[in-house]
Amino acid sequence: MTSGRRGEPEGVVDLRRLDLAPGAGARVDVPVALDGITLGGQPYAPEPPVVDARLDVGSSGSGLGLRLRFTTALVGPCQRCLAPSSVAIEVDARDFQAAGRGDADDPDEDLDCEYLAGPMRMELDVTAWARDAVAEALPMAILCREECAGLCARCGADLNAGQCDCTDDEVDPRWAALGELRERLGGAGDDAS
Ligand SMILES: [Zn+2]
Ligand SMILES: [Zn+2]
Repeated sequence: MTSGRRGEPEGVVDLRRLDLAPGAGARVDVPVALDGITLGGQPYAPEPPVVDARLDVGSSGSGLGLRLRFTTALVGPCQRCLAPSSVAIEVDARDFQAAGRGDADDPDEDLDCEYLAGPMRMELDVTAWARDAVAEALPMAILCREECAGLCARCGADLNAGQCDCTDDEVDPRWAALGELRERLGGAGDDAS
């Protein structure tokens, strides 16, 4: 079973093609182009940008059970020290489409899968689902490493490289961005000490 067939939008699977009898299941690998994400004004790019998402569809009397799984990584600056970082993203998402909803006018949050559209609600937008699932699977913070010491809020020094000369150890994370900006501006001119 393949997807992205000529004439069919990429990343969309027509579930009718699976031709599932009640009680049967099918597995399809769907190539999905992932989106970059902006967090705190910084860009994070998916790596690889295209993943083979594994779609499992199970048919029962009550409807279709849907499961989407893939792994990717987001690559971008550490949110503390701005060093290049990469975090693994593991997606294992489930959804459900109740039977007999093909001609229902209004989608129902409990009965309908929001990524299904088209005739009889049988065209699954795997790409949209995958992109949302990545956003939901994001870690609390994207860091170069768990114990990243970050930048000094005063002088902008990379504290992973050692303590700076600042004595104030009370660091407000909100000032970290300012410290970073100041470092960049300072770096453009001469290196004031
Ligand atoms: Zn870091
Ligand atoms: Zn400092």
